[in-house]
Order: sequence, then C-alpha cells, then structure tokens
Amino acid sequence: MNTSPVLNADLHCHSVVSDGTLSPEALAERAHLNGVQLWSLTDHDELGGQVRAQAAAAILGIDYVAGVEISITWLDHTVHIVGLGIDPTHAGLIEGLRQTRDGRRNRAQAMAEQLAKVGIKGSFEGAQLYAGNPELISRTHFARFLVEQGFCRDTETVFKNYLVAGKPGYVQHRWATLDNAVQWIRSAGGVAVIAHPGRYHLTPLQMTELYARFKDLGGLGIEVVTGSHSPDQYQTFAKIAVDYGFMGSRGSDFHDPRESHTDLGLLPNLPSSLKPIWSVFH
Ligand code: AMP
Ligand code: MN
Ligand code: MN
Ligand code: MN
Repeated sequence: MNTSPVLNADLHCHSVVSDGTLSPEALAERAHLNGVQLWSLTDHDELGGQVRAQAAAAILGIDYVAGVEISITWLDHTVHIVGLGIDPTHAGLIEGLRQTRDGRRNRAQAMAEQLAKVGIKGSFEGAQLYAGNPELISRTHFARFLVEQGFCRDTETVFKNYLVAGKPGYVQHRWATLDNAVQWIRSAGGVAVIAHPGRYHLTPLQMTELYARFKDLGGLGIEVVTGSHSPDQYQTFAKIAVDYGFMGSRGSDFHDPRESHTDLGLLPNLPSSLKPIWSVFH
C-alpha cells in the first residue's frame, strides 16, 4: 500500500448506519467519483456498515480499511477516537461498542423532554424517523428534525442554539473511557487516532494530558486535515503531531451532501512533514 503523504485517503465519514444520510454503497460511489484511493467508513460507535462498505469499495477498486469513531468522555468532555484497520468481527470491540451505544435511547428521551419544555413537541419520535439505525439515535437526528419543523435554518444553526451545553436539549452523557476505547481498537488489530482535535473545548493543559495519556495507551495518530478543521488548524495540528510523535490522518467527516462543507476526498493533502497513518496498513 502507498505510504505517500499525497495519497487521496479519506479515513473518516458516516453512513445511515450512524448519523450520515447515504448508504455505504452510495458513499463508496461518491468516494470513487471524487478520486479517493484509500477509504474508511467510520460510523459512530457502530460496525454495522463495514461489510457493505468493504464490498462496495472492492467492486470499485478502492483500497479499504475498516473503521469506527468511538465516543468517549475525557475530563467531562466528549472526545472522539477513530479506530482504523480494525477487525470488524472482533468480539471485544463489538461488545464495547454495544455498551457505548446503550445509553443513547434514554439520553434521547431526556433531550426530547427538555425540548418539549421550550415548546418543541414530538422530537423523540421525529428524530427517530431520521435515525436509520434505532440503536444510534444521535443529536444529528434531532438537528434534522428541528430544521424540518422550521425551528432553525440548517443543522449548523441548530448546534448554536440547541443540543449543546447551556442550550435546550443538551443532556450530559458519559461515554466510553479513553483507556477502554484505545484498548478495544488495539485488541481488534487497529490503530487509534484522535478525531478532529481542534473541535474540543478543552484547555491547553487538558489537551496536553489527553495527548500524553493517549500516547501511553499506544495511540498512534491525530487527525490533521479534516473537514472539521480550518486551514490554519491544519498547521497547528501538524506541529502538534510532530511534537508528540503522532502520525497524521486525513478525512472529510462527510455526513450528507447538503450539510457537510467538505466532500469525500476533496481535502488538501497531508503536510509533507508528517508520517501518514496509512503507512501502517502494509
Ligand atoms: P452525538 O453523538 O449524539 O452527541 O452527536 C454528535 C454528532 O453531532 C457529531 O458527530 C456531528 O455529526 C454532530 N455535531 C455536533 N456538533 C456539531 C456542530 N457544531 N455542527 C454540526 N454538527 C455537529
Ligand atoms: Mn456525526
Ligand atoms: Mn466526531
Ligand atoms: Mn465523525
């Protein structure tokens, strides 16, 4: 497999199996059209799309690595850890993800109760209609319902006025631990990558602690070029990767053709100062 930093690798996106709107097959087609050479579907806390994604990629001649994006709680903040090159049939990983998904339904009910108090009725049922996977009802599905009902212009506006800390519909939640998530990924033969590090509202010291602990646990990479980073953040996190000895990853975090600013594969190359995470998939 290619280890060049200029490979068109897209190692982060979502299908209807989590909070995306396209099927694994439609994503594979789109990745192919956009020139993706190495692809991973990384649904939140779910492996249900892996067999289909892998089969579709094989038909189109795209290299594929199985992936997942695990929700964790780090110092009371939600952080996402991407696992790449995992064995999607690994029992320990499957069970860990099942536990991680477990609280989503109760959380969604509590979110709907809060929204009802500000006059938004029926959001649990409404969000559920958007959830392709009943075990994976997420804030994104609530956001789509709020847009449909005319409460907000688009999902980005939803995440400014609802569903986030201090706004209606936000419910604190305890996800997996960092230690468990990295261990599940590694025991399933994969490599662990910190997703979109520029998105967390952690202090610099808390980020330092996250990198250090992640590294101690055997975490290998951080996302540098991602649809969730601004171009100046590519530079910031390229430097962090070099400083901590992490490999760099690249992925659109694509969810939906209208909602996502960054399409599959249409991202700048990884900076040449970085060792690409795909160099480990030999
Ligand atoms: P959940 O796992 O239910 O907490 O939902 C998290 C998902 O909400 C993320 O994976 C994103 O898809 C979406 N999301 C969170 N914050 C934002 C934001 N500011 N803008 C757009 N989507 C967001
Ligand atoms: Mn998402
Ligand atoms: Mn994420
Ligand atoms: Mn994501």
